Formats: sequence, C-alpha cells, structure tokens
Amino acid sequence: MMGMRGGGGGGRGGGGGGIRDEDKINRAQTRVVLVRSLRMAGEFRRNALRAFLLVCVTVACTLAGPVIVRHGIDGGIKSKDLSSLNRAVVAYIIVVVINYLASRLQYVQLNAAGEGFLRILRTRVFAHIQRQSMAFFDREKAGVLVARMTADVESMSELVQFGLMQFISSFLLLMFALFLLLSMSWELTLITLIVFPFIIAASVKFQRDANKAYLEVREKDGANLSALQEGITGVRVIQAYAREDEQIRRFEESNRALFRSHLHSVRVSTWYFGLIEFSGIASTAFIVGIGGWLVHNGSVSLGTVVAFVLLLANLFEPVQQLSQLYNTVQSAAASLHKLFGLMDAVPDVAEHPHPVDLPAQGVLAAHDLTFAYQGAERPALVDVSLAVAPGERLALVGPTGAGKSTLAKLLSRLYDPTQGHVTFDDVDLRVASLSSLRERVVVVPQEGFLFGGTIRDNIRIARPSATDDEVATALDAIGVRERFDEFPEGLDTEVRERGSRLSAGERQLVALGRAALVDPAVLVLDEATSNLDPGTEAEVEAALERLMQGRTTIVVAHRLTTVQRADRIVVVDKARIVEVGSHNELVALGGKYAALARAWEKSHAL
Ligand code: ATP
Repeated sequence: MMGMRGGGGGGRGGGGGGIRDEDKINRAQTRVVLVRSLRMAGEFRRNALRAFLLVCVTVACTLAGPVIVRHGIDGGIKSKDLSSLNRAVVAYIIVVVINYLASRLQYVQLNAAGEGFLRILRTRVFAHIQRQSMAFFDREKAGVLVARMTADVESMSELVQFGLMQFISSFLLLMFALFLLLSMSWELTLITLIVFPFIIAASVKFQRDANKAYLEVREKDGANLSALQEGITGVRVIQAYAREDEQIRRFEESNRALFRSHLHSVRVSTWYFGLIEFSGIASTAFIVGIGGWLVHNGSVSLGTVVAFVLLLANLFEPVQQLSQLYNTVQSAAASLHKLFGLMDAVPDVAEHPHPVDLPAQGVLAAHDLTFAYQGAERPALVDVSLAVAPGERLALVGPTGAGKSTLAKLLSRLYDPTQGHVTFDDVDLRVASLSSLRERVVVVPQEGFLFGGTIRDNIRIARPSATDDEVATALDAIGVRERFDEFPEGLDTEVRERGSRLSAGERQLVALGRAALVDPAVLVLDEATSNLDPGTEAEVEAALERLMQGRTTIVVAHRLTTVQRADRIVVVDKARIVEVGSHNELVALGGKYAALARAWEKSHAL
C-alpha cells in the first residue's frame, strides 16, 4: 500500500526550490524507510490488525447509512409502509452506534500501536546515541540530536497513529462510494464526477505547494530554534557585551520568517480546502437540481437522490484526506530517514568481538601513534611513542593546540588512533573489554558534570553497584567526606541539574570522588585552566594528591606546581613529542620546556 503512495506522486513531491536537501528523500528511500519501520513495528501487528478490521467496519457503516436512508424513503415514506420505515430507522440507529463504537476502539488500537512504535524508536535512538564514541559527538551537535528525538519523532507520530489507517479508510471509502453510486444511478454518478478533473488538478497542485510550504516552515522553525538556543546558552556573553538588543533583533527576524512561512502554508491549504468544499456544494446543487428533474421524470427514485447527496461527503472528504496524507507520509519518511541514519552510525570505539579483560596493573604504552580528527586537515598527533610505568606520574605540557589532550584521549581510548596502537600490559586497548578498560583507566574531566539527584547518586554514577559504605570509604580515601557532610543533608543533598547549587570546586571534588570509587590503576586528568580561589584550590589539590597515590597518573598540566610534582614531563609541540625528562633535566636542557617554565614562573611572580 505504501509503495503505491510513494509511487503515486514521489516524483512530483520534492519539487520545492530553496529547500534543504536533508528534507528531501527520493521514492526508493521513502520505500526503504517505510518498509523498515513497518518491520520495526512488527510487535504491534495485533493492534494494527484489530485497527484494520475496525476500519473496515467503520467504512461499511459509513456507506450503509445513505443506503438505509434510501430504503427508508423509497420503501417506507413513499410506499407508506410504516414497518419498513421503522426497520430502516432502527437499522440506521444500530449502524450509527456500531460506527461510533468501532471508530473509538480503532482510535485506541491505533494509539497503542503508534505510541508503542514511537516509544521503541525513541529508546533505540537514545541507546544508540549513548553508545557512540567521542568522534560522533564531534560531528553531531547536541541541538540537532535533540531535534531528532523530538521534532523528527513527533513528525512521525501523525503518520503512525492516523496516517496509515486513514489512507486505508479513505481509499476504501472512495472506491466503495463510487461503486455504490454507480450501482444506484450511472447518470447521477456522471454528474457527480463532472467536478472531479478540477479536484484532481487542484489536489496535485496543492500537494506540490503544501509540500514546499511545509518544508519551508520546518526550515524556519529550525532557524528560530537555534536563535533561541544561542540566545539562552550564550546569555552570559551577550549581557557581558551588552548585545541584548542585537540578539532580540536577530530573534525577531527569524521569528518573523517563521510567522510568514506559517501564514503561507495556511494560505495554501485554506484555498485548497475551500475549493474542495465549494466543489462538494456545487455537486450537491447539481444532484439536487438534475436529480430532482430525473425524479420528476421517473428515471430515479427520491431515495436515490437523497442517498447520493449523503454519499457525496464520502467522495470529497477522502480525496482531501489523501492529498493531505501524501505530505504526512513525505515528512514522516524524511524524519525516519534521518533517524535511521543516526541509528546506522557505527560506534568508532566499539567492543572487540573477542574482548580480553585487562590485568589489574601494567605499563601503559603508546606505539607510533598518529591521529587526525575527522575532517581535520592536519593530524593532531604524529608518530608518538611513550611508555608509562605503573605508579608513575607523567605531566603533558606544551603550547595550546599542541595535541596534549588528544594524546590523553588516545591513551584512555576515547578515540582510536589512525595509525599505531596503545597497550596496557601489552594488551591492545582495542582488544580490551570496554568494561575492564573503564575500570582500569579513568578520565577525570575538568568540570564534573552533575546529573539530577543527590551528591551520593552523582558519585555512584561511576559504579552504580557501590554501597553507601563504599561511597563513604572512597570519599574518606581522598579526604573529602567531611566537606560533604557539612551540607545540610550531607551526601543526600540534591544537586540541581548542571550543578548550579555546587561551586566549581565542589563539582571537581565530586568528579574526584567518582574516580576514587572506581579505584583505577591509571588516572588521566585534564587540569582545569580556570582558577579556583586559593582555599578551594588547596582543597582540590589535596584530594587529588591523595587520589593519585599509588596510581599511574597522566595529567595535561597547565600549572608549574603540577609539573614539578611529576616524575616525568613530556613536552608536546606541533603534534609531536619534542622533549621528555624530569623538571630539572629539562630546565638544564634549555629547550622548549625551559622557556615554558620561565614563563610560568614569571606569571606566578606577578
Ligand atoms: P590546550 O592546551 O589548548 O587544551 P592541547 O595541546 O590539549 O591544547 P588538543 O586539544 O589536543 O590540544 O588539540 C590538538 C589539535 O586538534 C588542535 O589543533 C585542535 O584544534 C584540534 N582538535 C582538538 N579537538 C578536536 C576535535 N574534537 N575535532 C577536531 N579537531 C580537534
């Protein structure tokens, strides 16, 4: 059925100029995504089957009404046969009641299937996004992903809930209504069909214009949403530079464009629906006029004319619904295409088919690593080799953009190298099971992101199976338990999303608490560049110092104190390791590090 829809007008539908390519998909793609979604919706086939049967019942009841009225008039009123009239009245009432019940039940069944399908789809897409590696999030913007989960899923809900069944119901109604009309009077049917060529021409034009208008609305809606998002997320910068008026003006511009595109789409559909309505009225007038004359002539019965008038609605409404439906199918197919595209993204950092658990301790080593970010012109790392002994503290230093963070990310397998490999105790990280890798090597980000829930919940994210005692022990181990106990509700204090109730220092302590709970062999730290106040800084430093005890530590260092505490310093410059040694050795060498250390000392002295 859907193939027929796609084939019926796919070539014409995408003809809009100035529309984003991503919103246009061809007939073959439409067919592929619809077949795939039908397969996905397989578990709801019972609901769909029930809904289909109920649709057949409502179609039969809808068409039976005018036929019964015809009998009532011709066999009852005109022949003055009261019992025949009564039978017709009772039958009409029964048909109306059945129609009402069947359409309500059909609505419930359709929603059960449609909403169920959307639930599955949302969960699958979300699960897929969660499993993606960092490279995926470099490519995809968070706002776009949110739009996939909301606007794209939403644009399909209309199709999966009503579209398919409406198509079946409109199609059946149109076919059977035509058949009934022809069987009652071919003359009147011909008169009815006089307006049809105009209606079909108008429908084709509407379908084309509405598709264009609809895509325009979506485009303007997206632009308006991103203006809104920028205005909210960037409000601090906007206010700092007093750029509010300009932002408001930009938003007003995109908002006005959205308003115009909405008005245009309303104009397109208003004219079309008006035309269909007018055609219906014109046909009714023809039928009443010419039908009346035919009744007078004795060629048709009065009941037939009344039945015709009643059946007319079942001819015009389906045509209108079918042409509207085409756009629903198009937009849903475009959304599905994007969602399936997202679901087909293969995670770059995937688990090996035969994963190996990493041992508790080992040398972490980089072997001839070369790495380029996707789409980057130059590699961020070239030919980097390095071995970090168990318990060793290594500081990565170098100018901004040199590749320090990239090296740290490769050593913890947030990305896989383009060439070369990273090993832990001679096991290639690509072969290691992801669970054992995340237990051995923990990356502590600069800013601890906080989820909704309590402080304890937030620490437990690192190891959900940890008991309250284990959380307390982990916090004790880094000496920060008292710090959180001072909160009104201790570890049970709720942190609001994004942690606006915790200070930057406290967020860092939570991040360290998480790492302590995992108790890894290797810690990878990206030192915060922003400064905390000296008191908090000392607190975080002390906790970090305790966390680093007995662990291999790789820190992307921005402070002299951190570097001085390291066993070995690795200087990265222009994607390569240029110097390796202790603080004193490198100062004596008088190279890049010596210059960097002098600059640090100078800025410290200021
Ligand atoms: P900083 O001290 O400023 O953090 P860094 O030495 O840690 O710098 P990296 O973050 O490793 O530098 O970046 C190395 C190079 O790779 C830079 O040129 C940077 O622009 C680029 N780069 C970093 N992250 C990405 C990314 N996600 N996608 C594309 N390019 C990136």
